[in-house]
Amino acid sequence: MEYDYDNIGLDKIYTYNDLPDKQAGRCDNCGNSHFKSKVGDGEFLRECSNCGMKKSI
Ligand SMILES: [Zn+2]
Repeated sequence: MEYDYDNIGLDKIYTYNDLPDKQAGRCDNCGNSHFKSKVGDGEFLRECSNCGMKKSI
């Protein structure tokens, strides 16, 4: 796997397949549990409201 939890880039959009939640429902980067969500093109994009990490779920 090319991604690892200790080296998360905030300019990337991760996918759940590449980087499953370390802790379900929490940001992998900062552990925050509040997200801004966006739905489009059949995808659900989850953005951490604290650090801005993005993951497509
Ligand atoms: Zn975060």
